[in-house]
Amino acid sequence: MSDTIVTRFAPSPTGFLHIGGARTALFNWLLARRHGGRMLLRIEDTDRERSTDAAIAAILDGLSWLGLDWDGEAVHQFARAERHREVALQLLAEGKAYYCYASQDELTEMRERAKAEKRPLRYDGRWRDRDPSEAPAGVKPVVRFKAPLEGETVVEDRVQGRVTWSNKELDDLVLLRSDGTPTYMLAVVVDDHDMGVTHIVRGDDHLTNAARQSQIYHALGWDVPVMAHIPLIHGADGAKLSKRHGALGVEAYRAMGYLPEALRNYLVRLGWAHGDQEIFTTQEMIDAFDLGGIGRSAARFDFVKLEALNGHWMRQTDDVRLVDALETILPEIGPERGLGPTFPPDLRGRLVAAMPGLKERARTLVELLDGAAYLWRARPLAMDEKASRLLDGAARARIAALVPRLEALEPFDAETTEAAVRAFAEETGVKLGQVAQPLRAALTGTTTSPPLFDVMAVLGRSETLARLRDQEKP
Ligand code: GLU
Repeated sequence: MSDTIVTRFAPSPTGFLHIGGARTALFNWLLARRHGGRMLLRIEDTDRERSTDAAIAAILDGLSWLGLDWDGEAVHQFARAERHREVALQLLAEGKAYYCYASQDELTEMRERAKAEKRPLRYDGRWRDRDPSEAPAGVKPVVRFKAPLEGETVVEDRVQGRVTWSNKELDDLVLLRSDGTPTYMLAVVVDDHDMGVTHIVRGDDHLTNAARQSQIYHALGWDVPVMAHIPLIHGADGAKLSKRHGALGVEAYRAMGYLPEALRNYLVRLGWAHGDQEIFTTQEMIDAFDLGGIGRSAARFDFVKLEALNGHWMRQTDDVRLVDALETILPEIGPERGLGPTFPPDLRGRLVAAMPGLKERARTLVELLDGAAYLWRARPLAMDEKASRLLDGAARARIAALVPRLEALEPFDAETTEAAVRAFAEETGVKLGQVAQPLRAALTGTTTSPPLFDVMAVLGRSETLARLRDQEKP
């Protein structure tokens, strides 16, 4: 084995890049980056019925959005079918594989019998030692692997430890189907070998495959890569991950308003730990990642934690970049909020100015945008129920009395408006809240908003005064 670590991410393009796949990709990427190695991408598109170009595009987009780049061109497994066949024929020639002519009926019977005896289906090896001259005419055979009958197969897994199978449990699997197409089990081994993969990191649903694949490696005299099978992700309640729990495509997380750095940070901690550190920059993850830190029990998906991390990373993010991030999901979340696919320039400027106040409290980009809705509401503002209850006669009178003072301010910013409102409250003998609450309602149409004086500063003098005057009228 060479010194360089080569990992790979090998998705089947039958759907989007789901959250478990994204974590697998991240772990492979981190392992490679940590050791100055390479991460390869292999699209396992041998299932021609279920593989689609749309899914391939979604997977590549998802990886790019997450910032997980791969080295070299993506390998398409189906394009390598000829090479897979060649290896199957080599195994045949070496007597390590054989033609099997068992008919569908025979296989069905085997399955029924196994079912009746309540044991897993195992092909019984009926063609293993038969002479091909006994082959029935007109039947296209499959090629089966001659798996060892006695002894054990051992996988030294970096996460699961030493895992042992009695070879009696592992039957002679199909390498080539009767139409000559390779099976997944053969293709994965040949591709990982030919691509120089040194470390296989994937979900533990592939653990039994690892045993079967190890047998094929041994038969071919190839080194078995280091294996690490990561426990699957479960829902917060411990049950298998479903859509309700967050088993969604990465693009859904993007549209829910998560930043890629937050999702990366969340995913790295989903099944991997480095002391009790929760917050990781990308460089910190790269520096700390190791297979030894992957736990053996299933990680639980927790939206609350993801939101908290996202809030953290939004607060760390530069205001212009945050508005850029908002704009990338605007086509998805804008229309229902009365916005087009891009921000008009004047709104963009106001959004950037409003970010410091807004990002303190928002946990997702969607919340950020909702918090900013006061910026583009048309006058006169529609009031929500609480806001209109606040704006009673006395409150409107206070607003009317305050307007001339605000009009005269120079400059008009968060400090001067705050000073003016405080002075007004003091002089008229009311609590600050009795002025501030109606002001907030009049300026935003709601009773929850970023700090009031930020709102005024961002709206600017003329819009602020216009909105307040709208409320002077009874
Ligand atoms: N294509 C397989 C999957 O998407 C992964 C195979 C592997 O990692 O070996 O589940």
